[in-house]
Amino acid sequence: MKKTKIICTIGPASIQKETLKEMFKAGMNAARINTAYGSLDQYSLIISNVREIADIPLILDVKGPEIRLHVEKKRVIKEGEVLEVGFGGVEISFNHNFYDAVNVSDEIYIDNGKIKTRIVEKESGKLRLLVMNEGEIADGKGVNIPNIKLSVPSLSDNDLKTVEFAKEQAVEYLALSFTRSARDIHNLKSAVEGFEGAIIAKIENFEGVRNFEEILDAVECIMVARGDLGVEIELEKVPLVQKSIIKRCNQVGKPVATATDMLESMVYQPIPTRAEVSDIANAILDGTDAIMLSGETSIGKYPAESVSIMSRIAKEVETSVKSYVEDGKFIDISDSVSKSIKKISQTMPISTVVTLTRSGYTARMISRFRILQPIIAVTQDEKVRKQLELVFGVYPVQMDYRNKEDRILEVAKRLYSMKLINDDDTVLFTAAFRTTMKHASNLIEIHNIGELMKFTGEKP
Ligand code: PGA
Ligand code: MN
Repeated sequence: MKKTKIICTIGPASIQKETLKEMFKAGMNAARINTAYGSLDQYSLIISNVREIADIPLILDVKGPEIRLHVEKKRVIKEGEVLEVGFGGVEISFNHNFYDAVNVSDEIYIDNGKIKTRIVEKESGKLRLLVMNEGEIADGKGVNIPNIKLSVPSLSDNDLKTVEFAKEQAVEYLALSFTRSARDIHNLKSAVEGFEGAIIAKIENFEGVRNFEEILDAVECIMVARGDLGVEIELEKVPLVQKSIIKRCNQVGKPVATATDMLESMVYQPIPTRAEVSDIANAILDGTDAIMLSGETSIGKYPAESVSIMSRIAKEVETSVKSYVEDGKFIDISDSVSKSIKKISQTMPISTVVTLTRSGYTARMISRFRILQPIIAVTQDEKVRKQLELVFGVYPVQMDYRNKEDRILEVAKRLYSMKLINDDDTVLFTAAFRTTMKHASNLIEIHNIGELMKFTGEKP
């Protein structure tokens, strides 16, 4: 089984159930909806199609402070052309009003930096942009204005509708684009009060990088959003920023996803470039939990093939992953016990680790050590089960074991009947026993499953 989790952005190329099925079979672990494009009706259709074919988490990506272009219809723009862009209500406009923050000669980039423009005139609420290279503009394309602090709100009116929708649909994750600080996260949380899913902060500009620690503290999950990051900060800084963000996430046991351009050439071709293959491999070796596909699966010609290539690379590389987690100071009981599990799993021939986890925390704490054995996370909570789908090496299973006298035996029995553990396996179980404290998995039991099954009374 594959340990690295694959997030697929769903769009016109993948909305059909047949395609989704193929992608799921090829290794898709989560589906993302990018709300830069489409309508609530289209998102509903994606959600119901995904839920029909697979029991995987849905990620609704809200655009927050992201600047985007609104155009009536897509067209090619030529070098030397001057575009007149307003702020709402005109043929070409931006979604946020930053008129006062920019000046003549500032540069504005469109579509992850593919088109470069410069402001040549600023008058009565409109900007005139000189196009510096030919390219295609289409509705919803991202816009970057690097190095200028734009005081745009955390959430637009449209985002507020989107998060309300996310709550109604009970999606498992909300991702916030262009997270700048913990305040953006708190604003999102108060806008979506009662939402039971988790929050992913997308780090994609200078402010997000600078305020990373407080953002990490405020969320459940991080995404290194390299597409915008590579325009907002210097391109050459992206690889080291990726490595340091991933390392910090591993250290605290929060899942991290690496996104954008991973298989870009597969939007048009059935085979990736060697550089793309290496990029995926290196992200996994850095310690990323998840890798993401964007255009490859949403508008590309080879959505299922892209997932399948990612899976092949992941399976090959996973045998060599190492943990960069440092010993650090005591955090809580689950932290200490997970460190012991790491040692045991390295020195003893354990086949599988099983964790009985309420919030998913202990499963994440064990996963950060990148042990070779699979981690089966048993939880009673459907939300937790689905959220754990993004965690490296964790296979979540949902069952209710609460009222059983011997929970370990009960869980073992059920996993045995599901054939997830077998007679010859030596399995390490961990759980919280005789405590109601949070983050307190305080027990380790190691059993040969053939022998343990004799205690169930169902086996001679
Ligand atoms: P996006 O985010 O696809 O929503 O722009 C990812 C990125 O910027 O890398
Ligand atoms: Mn982005």
